Amino acid sequence: MDAATQHTFKAETQKVLNILTHSLYTHREIFLRELLSNASDALDKLRFLRNKGESVRDPELPLEIKITVDKEAALLQIADTGIGMTEKELIDNLGTIAHSGSEEFMKDAEAAGVEEQRGGEENAGDAGKPASSAAGIIGRFGVGFYSAFMVADEVEGISRSALGNEPPHIWASTGSGSFSISALSPDDEKAPERGTVIRAKLKEDAREFLEKYTLEAVIRRHSNFLPFPVYLEGEQINTTPALWREPKFSITREQYNEFYTYLTQDTPPPLEVIHLSVDAPVQFNALLFIPGTDQDYFGAKRDQWGLDLYVRRVLIERSNQELLPEYLAFLKGVVDTEDLPLNISRETLQQNNIIRKISQTIVKQVLNHLEKLAANDKEKYDAFWNLHGKYCKFAFNDFANRDRVAPLLRFASSAAADALTSLDGYLERAKPGQKAIWHLAAPSPEAARVNPHLERFRRKGIEVLFLLEPIDEFALESLGKYKDHAFRSIEQAERNDLEEFPDMDETKQETKDLTEEEQNAMTGLIERMRSILGDKVKEIRTSERLPGSPAVLVSADGVSSSMEKLLRVMQKNEQMPTKILEVNPDHPLLRNLLRIFRDSPENPVIPEIVNSLFDNVLLLDGFLGDPYLMADRNLKLMDKAASWYADLLKV
Ligand code: ADP
Ligand code: MG
Repeated sequence: MDAATQHTFKAETQKVLNILTHSLYTHREIFLRELLSNASDALDKLRFLRNKGESVRDPELPLEIKITVDKEAALLQIADTGIGMTEKELIDNLGTIAHSGSEEFMKDAEAAGVEEQRGGEENAGDAGKPASSAAGIIGRFGVGFYSAFMVADEVEGISRSALGNEPPHIWASTGSGSFSISALSPDDEKAPERGTVIRAKLKEDAREFLEKYTLEAVIRRHSNFLPFPVYLEGEQINTTPALWREPKFSITREQYNEFYTYLTQDTPPPLEVIHLSVDAPVQFNALLFIPGTDQDYFGAKRDQWGLDLYVRRVLIERSNQELLPEYLAFLKGVVDTEDLPLNISRETLQQNNIIRKISQTIVKQVLNHLEKLAANDKEKYDAFWNLHGKYCKFAFNDFANRDRVAPLLRFASSAAADALTSLDGYLERAKPGQKAIWHLAAPSPEAARVNPHLERFRRKGIEVLFLLEPIDEFALESLGKYKDHAFRSIEQAERNDLEEFPDMDETKQETKDLTEEEQNAMTGLIERMRSILGDKVKEIRTSERLPGSPAVLVSADGVSSSMEKLLRVMQKNEQMPTKILEVNPDHPLLRNLLRIFRDSPENPVIPEIVNSLFDNVLLLDGFLGDPYLMADRNLKLMDKAASWYADLLKV
């Protein structure tokens, strides 16, 4: 061995080294990820040159990474058969820290209150610095080769370049101040045939990284998808290939499904697989899945959605939410890009231009995929919608894409019992001249079907969309219209809105018109009802909207009832809203009430019936405050009706 040459680290590098060596005690396992990714990069470089036809040392040598431990010597060794480093490269590459990385690292360390230690004698762990701050930094950072000094008090890098004929060299440092370089003889046992061996002599408190199961777990956690085999004491650890980097045609559906299970621990296979390989405007590969189950990301699993972000097959962050808009929260999968550095911090990810472009591309591609699915496989699309449609509705926030999402929306409707309809489907069935897309908010299709507002529409054969979730109304309201057809709630339909459309129902029973005297009495009855209901209603008026119902509630300010409910929940308003009661003077119930009223305006059965009727309209409107009172009133009325009927039958 030649005499070693000594080199001092630059001041900046020394600072980083100091922090790594003395201040960071948690999440140190990251060092292995860093060393393995360097080995993998070195193998990549070698493969690239070899494929280009350049002559490299030992071209037949397999491309692999081998990890071995010597427990007695407390040595952890990571050997790769990659490109290796010459003497100069050892000095240049391992002597200085990548500039951008060091700067950010220092900034972050300062912000977290982790300080450089003077010398090694102090124990920073006792210096009142919470472990979590250090954990935060290490969690966010890849600090490269130097992270080895978190766990080792001596590190050697022995390398033999694959290019040229230089003998192997050894780089060695204790991480404090300087490093040495010396040449080894070409047949030195320590030297690899080609590539680099990193030998880390582990600190007293880092001996867990000599244990096979610890190393194995760490490799699986961070480096499972490296493109070269990683052997630990002879056994290959990373057996799942990085499927997203493989050419699509070579992957079977079984492989995709297996990978999905690996990724999500979800047993039912995914509904759809979307495999993207994109070169512009940014380079990335993505493997996305539409799960066959709902993960409830708006409920119990709030904020647990996102895609796993890899940089060159190394996991950077799980469930990264910058990669997806919330309305695609149902997607699972991974994104891998060449265009980001490995040591990017999470803060930087948040306003990162590359991430933004990846996200935009993903949105476009997913929408493409959904459009095709909707066009080609209605059944599957409906299954998708039933599972994940609730997320998609939030696309109304995405001004760039919401016009593309609108045709993908599905609704229950009055046209078909259980089937879903698209807005285009609705428009195909619309009446000639129909300007609006009518909708009705209700808690269930059953509730929608008995809603009195629906009757006129049914009679005219005009379809009504059922909005079964509060978000539906927000979504439609913010869309405003679809293909020049405004969205309108049937609760706000005026008489002349439907006048031009003929009744479909020919057998409509004719009610006799009221005489003038009867009409006056009807006005009196309505006044009587007003005095019975008092403040519970804003106004009572007759209505034309209700061919088959006796009465309905409408709001005075044009807010639909479900929107009103939502607003009230948001304002924590528990009072019942006062609305306008519209009654149908042609309905038999009103006609009979009128008969009683004309006979005696003070007949006590009138308030009983009016109160019960009001219970009914409240119930249908979703605002019934006290079901017990209603049940009690109902019982009394039934009691009366039964006794009158028995009298009538003379039994
Ligand atoms: P980065 O990987 O981000 O460049 P590192 O601190 O991890 O930063 O590594 C510094 C440099 O050292 C690498 O860019 C590479 O040139 C060199 N290097 C590190 N490990 C190896 C290795 N196993 N084989 C070849 N070169 C290596
Ligand atoms: Mg690196």
